[in-house]
Amino acid sequence: MQASLFSRNANKTKIIVVSNQKGGVGKTTTVANLASSFSRLNKKSLLIDLDPQGNLGTIMGIDYDQRDHNIYTVMSKDSMINDAILQTKDKNIDIISSNMDLAAFNTENTTMLQKEYILKNTLDDLLAKIDKYDFIVIDCSPTLNLLSVNALVAANYVLIPMQCEYLSLEGLVQLLHTIKLIQNNYNEKLTLLGIVLTMFDKRSNLSRLVANEVSQFLEDSIFKAIIPRTVKISEGQSYSKSILDYDNKAFASIAYLDLAKEILEKISKY
Ligand code: ADP
Ligand code: MG
Repeated sequence: MQASLFSRNANKTKIIVVSNQKGGVGKTTTVANLASSFSRLNKKSLLIDLDPQGNLGTIMGIDYDQRDHNIYTVMSKDSMINDAILQTKDKNIDIISSNMDLAAFNTENTTMLQKEYILKNTLDDLLAKIDKYDFIVIDCSPTLNLLSVNALVAANYVLIPMQCEYLSLEGLVQLLHTIKLIQNNYNEKLTLLGIVLTMFDKRSNLSRLVANEVSQFLEDSIFKAIIPRTVKISEGQSYSKSILDYDNKAFASIAYLDLAKEILEKISKY
C-alpha cells in the first residue's frame, strides 16, 4: 500500500513501451539507442526485453549464459528481480533480458485471473525496492499477444517506431485502435508519447511520401527527429554498440539524441 502511494515510481521512473505489431521496423534498435541517448543526458534506464527472441540482450552485449534469471523467471516468481537485473557496458543502462522460454508466457497464463497485469505488478514491486531509474524502456515482440498487452498495461507511455514504407499506415491505424482498447479497459493513463519515423532514406520518394502522409494524418504525434537509414546501425550492433558509441557524429546518432531530448521535453509537460 505504502509503496504504491509513496514510492518514487509515481513521480520519477517513467515506463515507456516501444511497440509496433510489425517486425523489423526498428523497435529493438530504438530501445537500445534511446537508452544510450538518455545516458548521454545523464538519465538512467532499465531495459526490459519482452521479446522471446532476446535480440535486445544480444545487442546490449548480454550472453545467453547470463540469462538464467530473466524477465520470464521474474514474472513467474522463480527469480528475484535483483538477480535478473544485469549491468551493461554503459553505466547508465541496466537490462532484464529474455530468451525463448518467454514465449511460454502467452500460453501458460491464458486462464489466469488478472493475467494482463502480471508485468505491471512485477514492475510495481521492482519500483518499490529500486528507485534509481529515470526510465524503464520495454521492447516488445512484433505480435499482439498477452505479452504485448502486459507491456501496454504496465507502461505510462507508448512510443511507436514506424518504418517509412508503404503499408505502414494501415498497421498504425490498427495499433492506435489497440492502444484505445487498452486505455478503455486496463490502463486509462497510457499516453501516446509519439511516433518516430525510422529507416528514412532521403533518396527514396517512397520514404518522403510516407513521412508526409503520416505527418498529415497525425501531425502532433510525430517526433521532429527522424531516424535515417544507415548501415552503421547494424554495424554497431554487431559489436554490441549503440550508434552513439559506434559513431557519435553519424546522422543517426544525432537523430536518436534529438529524439531523447524531445521525449524529455514532452514528458516534462505531462
Ligand atoms: P524490430 O525490433 O522492430 O524487429 P530492429 O530494431 O531489430 O526491428 O531492426 C530490424 C533490422 O534493421 C536490424 O537488423 C537493425 O540492425 C536494422 N535497423 C534498425 N534501424 C535501422 C536504421 N535506422 N538504418 C538501417 N538499419 C536499421
Ligand atoms: Mg525487435
